[in-house]
Amino acid sequence: MKKPGQPITKGHKNYDLVLSLQLGIRYSTQKHASITREVKSLDFDPNEKFWTRFPPEGSKLTPPHQVVDFKWKDYCPVVFKNLRELFGIDPAEYMLAICGNDALRELSSPGKSGSNFYLTQDDRFIIKTLKKSEVKVLIRMLQSYYRHVRQYRSSLVTKFFGVHCVKMVGCPKTRFVVMGNLFYSERVIHKRFDLKGSSYGRTTDKPGGEADETTTFKDLDLNFIFQLRQSWYKELIRQIDIDCQFLEGENIMDYSLLIGLHICNYSNNNEMNISPSGKADAQDYCLCDAESPDKGQIMEKRNSPISLAANLPARAMCVSRSGSESTSGQGGCEANNAILCLGIIDILQDYDISKRLEHAYKSLQVDPTSISAVDPKLYSKRFRDFISRIFKVDEG
Ligand code: ATP
Ligand code: CA
Ligand code: CA
Repeated sequence: MKKPGQPITKGHKNYDLVLSLQLGIRYSTQKHASITREVKSLDFDPNEKFWTRFPPEGSKLTPPHQVVDFKWKDYCPVVFKNLRELFGIDPAEYMLAICGNDALRELSSPGKSGSNFYLTQDDRFIIKTLKKSEVKVLIRMLQSYYRHVRQYRSSLVTKFFGVHCVKMVGCPKTRFVVMGNLFYSERVIHKRFDLKGSSYGRTTDKPGGEADETTTFKDLDLNFIFQLRQSWYKELIRQIDIDCQFLEGENIMDYSLLIGLHICNYSNNNEMNISPSGKADAQDYCLCDAESPDKGQIMEKRNSPISLAANLPARAMCVSRSGSESTSGQGGCEANNAILCLGIIDILQDYDISKRLEHAYKSLQVDPTSISAVDPKLYSKRFRDFISRIFKVDEG
């Protein structure tokens, strides 16, 4: 399948920006490679400044380059170095994936916020431009995020690997976060869902014929449920509860459960019908594998609940159709099975004045509980209620 996005090559409008980002990340990764100490509380201090100048002619610390003069800032580099380690990211692979030649592709703005998204050539990492307020939120909650993902290795919240800022001469600052691509998988993702639990405006803007495998569908487009084996259902719900509690405690809202489905018997002819009027032939999916979707048999023998922390940036689970044809106890990716990658994304929006105003304004027009922008407590409850409606235990 053709890779999504547009390669950033010379002549691209963001060529300079992306090149500076690559130079900066190479510099930072190398600079911090030898740090092996534990994180200290001072490492979370946002006032610690790590600006480095990159003059085109090069300097003692930086190589010569062909971009305009720029400054580069690392946020809490020691913390992110430790997070990358925790998430099993090899520094050399990280650098190569992001900084190799022609490494990045720009995705055509998947969100509404105006952020740009860049995907590495190997699909492993996504770089998203952030608003200043989002960086503030991330830095504010970094200590508890760090604690959370260390304590819950199976957490579903986005894996963050680094936050940086580029200031090119004559341009405003651009802030970036590097995170794991949830859909990093050997398998093709056939269907994507971005689910918030709210309903107002929650349909894809690419209906009917325009939709393809890269289209992200939303809450109202989902017309089937996922049926899971009981232990896995429990584990999933437990982890979502824990993650939501964390987000609620940080006053965060507007996040989504992002789900990618690899449908094993997928073809253009018999793909799942997800049009609201159609009969979905996927009423009955059940979770039968986790972590290493290729090894259904092995997973079948495991008694312990799934370990939600795969050594992927995303979690992968194998889902099979329940019923007689299901998989004769073998699991794996057979006909009517699907593999699910899922995680909680877009976790840097707090319930600030703009969201309060959005809530007040939209409440005048529609049912206030249907709006995405609601207070974090309500958001989390509605989100969890929705998830418990779309995932069910397979009783069969
Ligand atoms: P908005 O605030 O309007 O929802 P946004 O610009 O903040 O949008 P996100 O919600 O973070 O953007 O992401 C938009 C889309 O990008 C998602 O629906 C998903 O398709 C894709 N995406 C975002 N983060 C990831 C990730 N970590 N892995 C895979 N895909 C992602
Ligand atoms: Ca979003
Ligand atoms: Ca957002």
